[in-house]
Amino acid sequence: MPHALVGRLVEVLGVSRVSVDPEVCRQFGQDGTRQSHAADVVVFPDATAQVSAIARICSETRTPMVARGAGTGYSGGAVPVRGGVVLAFERMNRIIAIDEASLYAIVEPGVVTGDLQDAVAGVGLFYPPDPSSLRQCTIGGNVAENAGGPRAFKYGVTRHYVLGLEAVLPSGEVIRTGGKTVKNVVGYDLTQLLVGSEGTLAIVTEITLRLVSLPPAVVTLRAFFPTIHHAAEAVSRLVRQHAVPATLELVDGATLDAVAKATGDRTLAPAGAGAMLIVECDGLPQAVDAEAAIVAAACRAEGATGVVEARTEAERDELWRARRTISPALMVIAGLKINNDIVVPRALVPDLFALVDDLKRRFRLPIPSFGHAGDGNIHVNVMANPDDADQVARAYAAVEALLDGVLALGGSISGEHGIGLSKAAFIDRELSVDTLAAMRRLKQSFDPMGILNPGKIFPEFAPAPVERAVIAERRS
Ligand SMILES: Cc1cc2nc3c(=O)[nH]c(=O)nc-3n(C[C@H](O)[C@H](O)[C@H](O)COP(=O)(O)OP(=O)(O)OC[C@H]3O[C@@H](n4cnc5c(N)ncnc54)[C@H](O)[C@@H]3O)c2cc1C
Repeated sequence: MPHALVGRLVEVLGVSRVSVDPEVCRQFGQDGTRQSHAADVVVFPDATAQVSAIARICSETRTPMVARGAGTGYSGGAVPVRGGVVLAFERMNRIIAIDEASLYAIVEPGVVTGDLQDAVAGVGLFYPPDPSSLRQCTIGGNVAENAGGPRAFKYGVTRHYVLGLEAVLPSGEVIRTGGKTVKNVVGYDLTQLLVGSEGTLAIVTEITLRLVSLPPAVVTLRAFFPTIHHAAEAVSRLVRQHAVPATLELVDGATLDAVAKATGDRTLAPAGAGAMLIVECDGLPQAVDAEAAIVAAACRAEGATGVVEARTEAERDELWRARRTISPALMVIAGLKINNDIVVPRALVPDLFALVDDLKRRFRLPIPSFGHAGDGNIHVNVMANPDDADQVARAYAAVEALLDGVLALGGSISGEHGIGLSKAAFIDRELSVDTLAAMRRLKQSFDPMGILNPGKIFPEFAPAPVERAVIAERRS
């Protein structure tokens, strides 16, 4: 990176907001996939005007720039594959306003999702989107990835809460989209275009979020099933009965076993448990009790055992414990994990698990699976020994067969994590040539020089198969 460019960044930001320290550039060049490429320089803006100035410098010098939240992304989105400037938003972490009367909050992009939830809960309000990474990830990253979580079944995902945005275009221009109202049909809906655009169209500098009332009552149920198919049938039964719990989380037996091994707590995987379902009902107390009874009956009708109900925060925490430790726990199975956050139409969850069973047999690999069964969004993890070339090759073949099978079921190759680097090789299996061409034209109109988060999403940027092995998560 030329000295002159760093000098100009220091001029507008001050020396304390610019780092070329190789260790900092390395750290801010990786994300949750552990894919990494060092940034040339990391900047820590604390105001929109600074972001705009950075963008102007980058566009004048045609320097790549990548926005970064907490770096928990699971698709390589925040990795600066072409080097350049990484804009880290940890200093723009203010909750600017919580409006209790009009039910919205205005926040900077670096606010940690869980911190916002705690702050609004303090005044009896609720921000429902709950990615499992909520204690680390930021609202800016959630907006860019349109993050979802267990509560999406009832409450929807991030996009359903974004009312308005302030964003900086790669040219440095500052735009405002939407506003503070739940209704707004003025002009093109740029707010919803930017949500889920993976930091490739604009840099978000302020977000206005819709809030709802904190539900007064919550009941959480946990049930074990003899097989994943019994649990999947219970989910289908609940969906058919139009029950709308807040969450419907499913964990298969191999995953339970890994959690029990990793934590040393066998109660998390009792003998004979082939799957676990965690169902949370919330709302008015009477409605919650009625719904919990329907859920328990549906689970028992599909062969559930050990149906337990939690009513206090401590009891609830205990039931969620296994679910929360899954991601790292899976690494006890094998050193390489290829996480696929696929999604199928809700009623086809049993078909998806039949497909996964078939893949396990055909490719002779462990494929532990868990996820947001109520949405049909399951994390299917293909595991392999990274030192065994044959296993790694089979793992990638299994991923391709999985994605094709999911598309044949009418599903989608990513429900939460986005395309980034990890799924760029597969996007053209889901989107037609014409659809991708329309998306390229959009990218071109927002970012004519291609400097904002370059090398992401489109198939021409997909890493070669041999490099894809590097993107998968590895045991540290
Ligand atoms: C243990 C674990 C559990 C997870 N569970 C879930 C889950 O349940 N649901 C889910 O959806 N995801 C989950 N994820 C993935 C990840 O946490 C989400 O994608 C999250 O939204 C990323 O936020 P972040 O702040 O870490 O963003 P980063 O990883 O820093 O960035 C992600 C993308 O957002 C862009 N970006 C960041 N800030 C801005 C900005 N201000 N303007 C424009 N673009 C920006 C980046 O350029 C990048 O493309 C999980 C990850 C981990 C590690």
